[in-house]
Amino acid sequence: MLVMIMVTNRRFPEMGSGGADGRRGIERMTAQRRAILEELMGVDTHPSALELYEMVRQRLPRISLGTVYRNLEIMSEEGLALKLEHAGAECRYDGNVSPHCHVRCLGCGRISDVPLALPEGLAVEAEKASGYRIAGHRIEFDGWCGKCRRKRRKARRGE
Ligand SMILES: [Zn+2]
Ligand SMILES: [Zn+2]
Repeated sequence: MLVMIMVTNRRFPEMGSGGADGRRGIERMTAQRRAILEELMGVDTHPSALELYEMVRQRLPRISLGTVYRNLEIMSEEGLALKLEHAGAECRYDGNVSPHCHVRCLGCGRISDVPLALPEGLAVEAEKASGYRIAGHRIEFDGWCGKCRRKRRKARRGE
């Protein structure tokens, strides 16, 4: 089980507007951000930026991967999206920002929601145990998804 940390630095300033066309640029950015957010909220697959880019491109063919990355950064800072980070793996994003648990596949890296009600006193217990004032939590399990389990079974049988 891993506890994840949200990145809160703002490394990517908004770009793509500028000059006399600045206003139109901002409007375009807003439409792009809305499209990204709508696509993200429409799935529970926790897509990577690249996967999301492929989805949004169906609607906005001229959008760039950089724009998707930048908007995802800003959206996670603003609390509109969750950024799921994992050492050595691509970041994945979640449009569902209500507290919930995740499970990550050790084989293919996919992430699924775990509909699990956590014990109500958990935050209080964590405060007592750590001396911190707890503001939230990220809980991620890891394991093997059905597809990867079948693949491993086949490999063991030498198929
Ligand atoms: Zn898997
Ligand atoms: Zn989720």
